[in-house]
Amino acid sequence: MESESITSVLKEKRIFKPNKGFVREAVIKSRAEYQRLCKQAEKDPEGFWGNLARELVWAKPWKKILEWKLPYAKWFVGGKINVSYNCLDRHLATFRKNKAALIWEGEPGDSRTLTFQDLHREVCKFGNVLKNLGVAKGDRVAIYLPMIPELPIAMLACARIGAIHSVIFGGFSALAVRDRVNDAGAVLVITADGGFRKGAVVTLKEKVDEALKETPSAQKTIVVKRTKSDIVMQKGRDFWWHDLMVGASDKCNAEPLDSEHPLFTLYTSGTTGKPKGVVHSTAGYLLGAMITARWVFDLSEIDTYWCTADIGWVTGHSYVLYGILANGVTSVMYEGAPTYPAPDRIWEIVEKYKVNVFYTAPTAIRALIKLGKEWPLRHDLSSLRLLGTVGEPINPEAWIWYHEVIGKKRCPIVDTWWQTETGAIMITPLPGAIPTKPGSATLPFPGISADVVDRNGKSVPLGSGGYLVMKKPWPSMLRGVWGDSERYQKQYWSDIPGMYFTGDGARRDKDGYFWVMGRVDDVINVAGHRLGTMEIESALVSHPLVAEAAVVGCPDEIKGTGIVAFVTLALGNPPGDKLKDVLKAHVAKEIGQIARPDEIRFAENLPKTRSGKIMRRLLRDIAAGQETVGDTTTLEDYTVLAKLRQEED
Ligand code: ATP
Ligand code: MG
Repeated sequence: MESESITSVLKEKRIFKPNKGFVREAVIKSRAEYQRLCKQAEKDPEGFWGNLARELVWAKPWKKILEWKLPYAKWFVGGKINVSYNCLDRHLATFRKNKAALIWEGEPGDSRTLTFQDLHREVCKFGNVLKNLGVAKGDRVAIYLPMIPELPIAMLACARIGAIHSVIFGGFSALAVRDRVNDAGAVLVITADGGFRKGAVVTLKEKVDEALKETPSAQKTIVVKRTKSDIVMQKGRDFWWHDLMVGASDKCNAEPLDSEHPLFTLYTSGTTGKPKGVVHSTAGYLLGAMITARWVFDLSEIDTYWCTADIGWVTGHSYVLYGILANGVTSVMYEGAPTYPAPDRIWEIVEKYKVNVFYTAPTAIRALIKLGKEWPLRHDLSSLRLLGTVGEPINPEAWIWYHEVIGKKRCPIVDTWWQTETGAIMITPLPGAIPTKPGSATLPFPGISADVVDRNGKSVPLGSGGYLVMKKPWPSMLRGVWGDSERYQKQYWSDIPGMYFTGDGARRDKDGYFWVMGRVDDVINVAGHRLGTMEIESALVSHPLVAEAAVVGCPDEIKGTGIVAFVTLALGNPPGDKLKDVLKAHVAKEIGQIARPDEIRFAENLPKTRSGKIMRRLLRDIAAGQETVGDTTTLEDYTVLAKLRQEED
């Protein structure tokens, strides 16, 4: 990591206030109210989080709110609590008993609704199934399922009995499954005969069979029948979910667990390198997920909420499942591809279930823009009242499209910055209180001590770029990297003394708003200026013919480093040399000559992680004409790399 600050060139000036109707009904209604909460948290952080935590149902009260020995935090020490109890049981004595907890839609169009009561029954039964197979408190259970109701049922059942779940995204290979099962030392793998995606069957059981040849700890599987595919069941090792559930009792005690008992481990996306097995706690994580979900998504009792993320990513853990059910709110879950059978599948689902709050990723928004606005325009989206995004910086032009075409200028957009490691949203607008600016995640959530600093941990002046850090521990922070305390220390607590370093670069504007500029590893050093990737990419995306862009630095004989831009064009636009010059000039005009790309390369697709993030480190190798080094296990589509290399010739 270098010591210089990061130069900012972005000139975004638009600002959007929430409309009066939204503010009137909002959970947090004004900037003053937001500031009051921030002040409280600043003055007495432990009191602030403690007060919020009192709303949860505890099996035993805590003795101490925080024990902080850098870099290890313990929250609500001495307390005992159960996450599944707080997501399910406590709602059963209220009118929520027969309210929909999950509304699930399968890709072929089948659907299933589970009330809180239904979900509680299934979770209890499956908790007993796990116990009957010998799974005990503290054991790790790997879950490799498609987006079907059995996935949250399995997670909540683990949480109920104190087993630690490790969800493996259903798109991963046998090798990735093997490595994750072994890393966690899982005793059991829960999988399915398949899942539906783009009209085809994604095989899962075959991959588990392959993986289990080399997983000494895991020698049992539970298999959900989803696609009725032909699979081989090995006697004594593989058990059908539905067979085991038949005789299972629906009474299963919610085990009182220590606040710090690990709830799950989960791997990061692998955008910057080899994925890290992040560990999250029980009480602190639950509190973070619950309270952020309520304030950021402005949840009310009658909302139908839909987050399109796969549960295999942290967004799905916190905001399809735990944070939403802890609030007693209805969560929509969809199995398949967003564009199957037609590019309007997402909007069809929004219309069908009258979704009120919708949360997705910039990559999905850019893909939908590429397909054309005629698809959303075919549907009545008037139920929507709030939109959200997460995962990457959102380019202002994509933000504006989301705002106009989907939100009809009526719905606030919450651009939420957070990480697998943070467990919950960290920097975000509270939609009734904070005016938004396209491309900015705005302000820290109350109680979150985010700052932009230099190499020595000193705050940089407003307007300058630097390193995005957290200065104080927060309840839902990671508790470590599974089995690798050295990596935990080195990755997050070594670069900047005494602080949690996020790996991202950011700047704060004159209003104190945070603008995430991209990964520090991706910063491009041009003629003494260090430029973040997001600003140059946003300038490119602001050209009407550009759908998506990624920029990287490349060794240049004269300048030291040149800027290479990989550009995907909007559908139906032919690439050409003339357009290259137009785009270079466009960037120079939008943000300045310093950021003018030296080279533009048109690409049909960009290399992305399976969670949809651009992997610039791979593009860097291509731009430099080198072999790909580093981890590619989370790459979504290997043919993209081969094609990019061909396009070079
Ligand atoms: P790895 O850590 O393995 O490289 P990853 O960082 O992509 O993978 P995640 O935890 O899924 O894994 O992603 C967190 C990162 O995503 C953040 O550090 C940030 O770079 C980016 N990010 C998430 N939300 C936003 C947002 N709203 N604005 C800008 N960047 C975001
Ligand atoms: Mg990361």
